[in-house]
Amino acid sequence: MKKSRTALKFSSRRKKLVDQIRQKGIKDENVLSAMEQIPRHMFIDTALENRAYEDRALPIGKKQTISQPYTVAAQTELLKVKKGDKILEIGTGSGYQAAILCQMGADVYSVERHEQLYLTARKNLQELGFRPNLKCGDGTVGWSAYAPYDGIVVTAGAPVVPQELIKQLNIGGRLVVPVGDKASQRMVRITRVSEDSYEEEQLRSYKFVPLIGESGWDG
Ligand code: SAM
Repeated sequence: MKKSRTALKFSSRRKKLVDQIRQKGIKDENVLSAMEQIPRHMFIDTALENRAYEDRALPIGKKQTISQPYTVAAQTELLKVKKGDKILEIGTGSGYQAAILCQMGADVYSVERHEQLYLTARKNLQELGFRPNLKCGDGTVGWSAYAPYDGIVVTAGAPVVPQELIKQLNIGGRLVVPVGDKASQRMVRITRVSEDSYEEEQLRSYKFVPLIGESGWDG
């Protein structure tokens, strides 16, 4: 990451936020270290930057949000990211989650359906010196051109597990996706254990904005 003066701003608030997230149970030190380094305030409107280090989701336009920091940490921990892993994110939003994954050394692919958000995320990421592979489109069908992935993270709430995403996992790969109705979703982690077998874990509940598309909700 490029260390501009703006990126260094708020570093003590960022450290405090990371301490809170650690106290809430996140143990993966690589996730915590990336969150301590990535300037979340650079992914939201300057009018909101004073609130960037509260553990809350914040609006980013188009009725979408940058996820709550704890949620970003929890999803990233569930992905079990190792340096060099190829990771696909569905729902680029502000680009913050993609930046965390880049900082952890992953080879990042990310899809966003709103063109305006896709363009802003690209700019935010470039300002920090990150150049993940970004695409504007429907992520419920994955990104087959670069499959298989070691990890896929969906950052919007799905009505069902999108089957196309499961098919794009490497053997040993993990899909982390919130599944449920529009009011609440259960975090699900699916691990591909062999060519045709999968293990599914149902984890705690969250509330995400809806995943809209072919294998999501109607737009
Ligand atoms: N990961 C984001 C971040 O770090 O800012 C937060 C994402 S926000 C909670 C969910 C995002 O998913 C929204 O930007 C929304 O437009 C996007 N989204 C919803 N359905 C989608 C789809 N089918 N394909 C791609 N993006 C989608």
